[in-house]
Amino acid sequence: MGRQSSERVVIVGGGIQGCAAAYFLARAGWSVTVLEKDNIGRHASGANAGGVRRLGRDLREVPLSLAAMDIWKDLPAYIGEEAAAAFHPSFYMKVAIDDKGHGLGLDRIRMLENAGYQHEIWLSKRELKKRLPQLEGPLLGGVLVEGDGWAVPWRIVRGFAKAALDHGAEILEGCQVVQFSRHSSGVWKIETATGSLESDWVVNCAGAWAARLARKAGDLDFPLSAHAPMLAITERRAPVLPAVLGVLGHTLSLKQLDTGQFLIGGGVRATADLETDKAGLKIPEMATSIRLACQLLPGISVAGILRCWSGIEGYMPDDLPVIGMGGLPGLVHGFGFSAHGFQLGPGVGEVLADLVIARQTKVSLKPFCPSRFG
Ligand SMILES: Cc1cc2nc3c(=O)[nH]c(=O)nc-3n(C[C@H](O)[C@H](O)[C@H](O)COP(=O)(O)OP(=O)(O)OC[C@H]3O[C@@H](n4cnc5c(N)ncnc54)[C@H](O)[C@@H]3O)c2cc1C
Repeated sequence: MGRQSSERVVIVGGGIQGCAAAYFLARAGWSVTVLEKDNIGRHASGANAGGVRRLGRDLREVPLSLAAMDIWKDLPAYIGEEAAAAFHPSFYMKVAIDDKGHGLGLDRIRMLENAGYQHEIWLSKRELKKRLPQLEGPLLGGVLVEGDGWAVPWRIVRGFAKAALDHGAEILEGCQVVQFSRHSSGVWKIETATGSLESDWVVNCAGAWAARLARKAGDLDFPLSAHAPMLAITERRAPVLPAVLGVLGHTLSLKQLDTGQFLIGGGVRATADLETDKAGLKIPEMATSIRLACQLLPGISVAGILRCWSGIEGYMPDDLPVIGMGGLPGLVHGFGFSAHGFQLGPGVGEVLADLVIARQTKVSLKPFCPSRFG
């Protein structure tokens, strides 16, 4: 038996986590308001590479990633056919191009097998060549996950936002939370740039700004840092790459979108400024990932780079998110996704809703405990 849906919930942040949490809470009949200082999906959730991968997850994050994937696989049932069409499942492959990568791949498979997971498999050099004959260079094998893929991120975020609205949620854009505190009556008073409101629950999905928000409430001082992972997109080319590609031991993620454009990223970070909301670019570092992409798929080198961009993301020291009850009653946190929170989003939305409703979560949230840094 969970809590009654007569209580009000304010979610701060209209990224994938906030919108997915809003959807699951509104679907359960709760009165939900999302407060977003800019626009839905304006930051990391709309600017990301759209990688929907279970591959390479920290072992402690695997159960959450698998639970999220169950939702991705059945996405039309949650956000409707139109938005769900933005998800393109195929397969994700991380190839080994040197001995270090080869060792990392084999260790990884052993570790997962020992933990009882079988979703990542090892492909020998020969099997890899058969699967992706278009790849060039010294390929020593690779780790594969069937069914991972990519999505157009802003369409997915907007899909969850619309599904939340359809279930009665309210979404206020251009509405920055400037202060909030809990009254002795047990009600949260939330001051925004455009007015104030009261709520029984506050869910902190404020991305890279979430530690600032927690501080405003008088909760823990979270060691969250802001950085800006970078991406580059090319001109259109004929389809040659059905998989999302990474390289073991190197920073590359490479995919070819349905437009024919190659999207190149992999986590190389530039600087982020939380005061101005501006994220920078470091072209030499971006060029390293582009060079590696061209080495694997030489066709890319004749496709011009159209645009580079970055997005502001919050990182925790252990690269694991903070998901759980805050130090004050009625406060729940969901932030710190350390550049891999897009795939987790639907699963995180569901567990955040479970925490508010006081339902058993499908997976243990122990590794993500907000107080793990003291
Ligand atoms: C370039 C890039 C590539 C990435 N690639 C991938 C990938 O391929 N696969 C993957 O799984 N993950 C990827 N990620 C990570 C993923 O995008 C993030 O982990 C995820 O989007 C985080 O979602 P969020 O909702 O927590 O944060 P956000 O999307 O940042 O949303 C937080 C929102 O809170 C709002 N906010 C903050 N403070 C306030 C306030 N005081 N009042 C009101 N609103 C506030 C912000 O405006 C923001 O919109 C990538 C990230 C980047 C930047």
